Amino acid sequence: MAEKITAIKGMNDVLPPQSAHWEWLEQQVRDVMARFAYRNIRTPIVEPTGLFVRSLGEVTDVVEKEMYSFEDKLNGEALTLRPENTAGVVRAVVENNMLYEGGKRLYYMGPMFRHERPQRGRYRQFHQIGAEALGFSGAHVDAELILLAHSLWQQLGVQDVRLEINSLGQPDERKAHREALIRHFEAHAELLDEDGKRRLHSNPLRILDTKNPAMKPVVESAPRLLDFLGEASLQAFETLQAILHSNGVAFTINPRLVRGLDYYNLTVFEFITESLGAQGTICAGGRYDGLIEQVGGKPAPGVGWAMGVERVLELLKEQNLLPGVPVPDAYAVIPDMASLPVAMQAIQQLRMAGVAVQMHASATAELGSFKSQFKKADGSGARYALVFGADEVAEGCVTVKSLRDGAGAQVKKPLAEIAQWANSLQSSD
Ligand code: ATP
Ligand code: MG
Repeated sequence: MAEKITAIKGMNDVLPPQSAHWEWLEQQVRDVMARFAYRNIRTPIVEPTGLFVRSLGEVTDVVEKEMYSFEDKLNGEALTLRPENTAGVVRAVVENNMLYEGGKRLYYMGPMFRHERPQRGRYRQFHQIGAEALGFSGAHVDAELILLAHSLWQQLGVQDVRLEINSLGQPDERKAHREALIRHFEAHAELLDEDGKRRLHSNPLRILDTKNPAMKPVVESAPRLLDFLGEASLQAFETLQAILHSNGVAFTINPRLVRGLDYYNLTVFEFITESLGAQGTICAGGRYDGLIEQVGGKPAPGVGWAMGVERVLELLKEQNLLPGVPVPDAYAVIPDMASLPVAMQAIQQLRMAGVAVQMHASATAELGSFKSQFKKADGSGARYALVFGADEVAEGCVTVKSLRDGAGAQVKKPLAEIAQWANSLQSSD
């Protein structure tokens, strides 16, 4: 046998039956998005490297060390597998002049790529669902996005998710804070780790985002950005809080919440759970009013979030909220080759009438014994076995046998009445 080829470390297959959980979650998301009038956008998985360098910022974990970048062999272009989708969405919106008639509410789902150390809740190919509202200003839109995520938690029934919010203010307010921050960290330079020292002058705000517990004291005693905010920024933050209050959405203000990417201003937020250990942030986002201009568009505001699908599914599993995996309504037992044409015609009718039918098949060209087919029918989880034996088929009939409630009970049905039977099945569900 040839040597086996295995998947790349940190990149996972999603297999049945678990893939049904993914489909189910995606459907819940589509429902909620539709109720908020957010529309689906799909952008390429590969983008020019420059897009991410320019939008995420050069001094970020993602751009510094997590991107899968490569040269296009054919034309030498610098390309990158998208590490997130906001940059791609903004590029598409600018390129297609989508804000021409006003703002757009968009959502996406799909794989993202980051070269991280794989561990629970942290993979190299992972999946995000994200929502973006582009071309809209005002804290009420930030609130809408938070309510959107909150609605999804409600719809899914998840418990133990808390919301943290903060305001990063505007660039000029951050500048004054940045100077105070540099003074503070310079005064305690011996407490900074290597990343901290390197970021001290390039991006000191990001030091606040450190995951190094040893740096906790020096980060906690650092000047708070909230104390540097002007009237307008504070007003926006108040508006957001008032809307969350009026909707009964609990939150805490975390003055050290800065987010990993450079492009945020004003509102930032995270939904965090304690149920998943270290990788507890399941959804994160904020406002990014400078990003569209940075990517070459006419200046326009934006706000959005992204959630980690693997983490949300893990949380749902942890809290026993995942639905059962799907089973067919019926399993077609076909012991005789000669019955195949008639059987498959009947099965086809049932499928068109909305009944899920799994047809027997096996690794060999023979169909296998009656007994072995019934074993398969039982294993399939189907509610009924449809038996297309030679005798039944000769009479123009099929035997319907219950496999679950009242197992064993069976009736013979004329094939001409099979569609009717399908309808009675649907209405009894
Ligand atoms: P972290 O601090 O955990 O590295 P981040 O700030 O890099 O997260 P974002 O870029 O804000 O994450 O991505 C939004 C969400 O996507 C995260 O909150 C998380 O749920 C999920 N996510 C990010 N990176 C990964 C990964 N490598 N594997 C699985 N999920 C991830
Ligand atoms: Mg990260």
